Amino acid sequence: MLYIGFDVGGTGVQVGVVNEKGEILCKGNMVTRTDIPVADQIKAMADCALETLGRSGYGLNDVKSLGAGLPGVVDPRTGHVAFCPNLGWKDVDFAGEMRKHIDKPVYMDNDATVAGLAENVAGVSAGAHSSVFLTLGTGVGGGIVIGGKVWSGFHGVGSEIGHMIIEMDGNPCNCGNRGCLERYCSATAIILAARAAVNQYQDSAIMAKCEGDPMKINAKMVFDAAKEGDELGLKLFNEYVKALSTTIVNIIHFLDPEVIALGGGVSKAGDFLLDALRKEVAHLVMYKTMPYARIELAKLGPDAGIIGAAMLGL
Ligand SMILES: [Zn+2]
Repeated sequence: MLYIGFDVGGTGVQVGVVNEKGEILCKGNMVTRTDIPVADQIKAMADCALETLGRSGYGLNDVKSLGAGLPGVVDPRTGHVAFCPNLGWKDVDFAGEMRKHIDKPVYMDNDATVAGLAENVAGVSAGAHSSVFLTLGTGVGGGIVIGGKVWSGFHGVGSEIGHMIIEMDGNPCNCGNRGCLERYCSATAIILAARAAVNQYQDSAIMAKCEGDPMKINAKMVFDAAKEGDELGLKLFNEYVKALSTTIVNIIHFLDPEVIALGGGVSKAGDFLLDALRKEVAHLVMYKTMPYARIELAKLGPDAGIIGAAMLGL
């Protein structure tokens, strides 16, 4: 059987026809239309899915279910999308609307959660007993998979790992709290820390990379400077590793998953980041003689959203 997955973002929707191994057979996409009523947005998504399915050479009889990864929260009591700020959705009966156009079971979950599921089906944690996926991008998202099933919590608001508080009274977060992990482990956090420090390090390689304009600093510039041995680059990198390894150790002590997978833009630092994290986690982990979670880089990249959404129906 085949599964249709929607990766719904604030600017675009990616659609894929996926087989049970998590392989994408055919892809389509459309621009996210927040300027039209929600029912029309969902109809446009259904049309895009049917067009993509047609191109794949298969028909609706071959499709078992539809799934959507959404930048928001699904209320398990109603099955409605409780809210998606980027799409302007509030209490939307996504499944009910979608079934008016395609009469198949419809599943939904948070975008980071479905990306974690994708890695657990077809990526770095394929077949693992349990895995925690962290997206290290503009923010930090989390996806927990246990026994092949996503864990979103009893009320649907679990796995918000980015808003785990790792510093009491720490840096203010967009969510209203202080000291959230996202304020230390996102690309945004790296950029803000570099901007705040770079004026005291005029000779830093970061200053050269941003051509003297701190507003042009990105996370890659900071980590590249660290790789070159630059003093400020290394200071910021080491602070980052400390925050992320603390998080990873918290996850290990709390949940003891088989795999912790890292995705998102910051994870592109690759082995440079991974080696430093593994070393620090080995120091911090409590049961030093016991095996603990493998820490790996996610491998599905941007397709993880489509694959994981489709695999919600597995
Ligand atoms: Zn927060």
